Amino acid sequence: MKIAVLALQGAFEEHEKALQKLGAETLQLRKADDLNNNFDGLILPGGESTVQGKLLRELEMLAPIRNRIRNGLPVFATCAGLILLAEHIADDDTVHIGTLPVTVRRNAYGRQLGSFHYAEGIFEGIGRFPMEFIRAPYVAQVSEGVKILARVEERIVGVQYQNQLAVAFHPELGGDLRIHKYFLQMIPK
Ligand code: GLN
Repeated sequence: MKIAVLALQGAFEEHEKALQKLGAETLQLRKADDLNNNFDGLILPGGESTVQGKLLRELEMLAPIRNRIRNGLPVFATCAGLILLAEHIADDDTVHIGTLPVTVRRNAYGRQLGSFHYAEGIFEGIGRFPMEFIRAPYVAQVSEGVKILARVEERIVGVQYQNQLAVAFHPELGGDLRIHKYFLQMIPK
């Protein structure tokens, strides 16, 4: 199984390591041509969504990625990746990939709480999962058909919609591979 990891900016290497530990092959996506390789799933890492969105447009990768996801490519987005996937960003007209029918709010926990560790997180189907938040967004609204997988103090921080899995935190940083494993299980054999 081969998983492509968007490698323009942000925490992509940590995702690659997590996937490799689980026995998956990884492929870095750095330019449009890389999308011509065969791969079974895609990871959109954390980082800075404005920078990633700009690069995706400049490199002409945005539309091809959007089409692949619309056609069923399994995708796992973390933090900035969730912002890239969202159909709407609160108080912002920007839409990047826009395939996930949710509204996200960026940098949503205020300045003091820009980054924090939440030990008590519960992830649907997995159980307790330690969650690292770094200037994270949260999901403010979901459309019908979006499954809520995790909340932190009433705020939605994990969702799934068909082939799209997205979380506001960074499971690639904590060494717990269970959400990556969950993603790999979403990939048709
Ligand atoms: N604040 C970043 C953004 O708006 C997301 C932060 C992250 O990915 N850790 O893109």
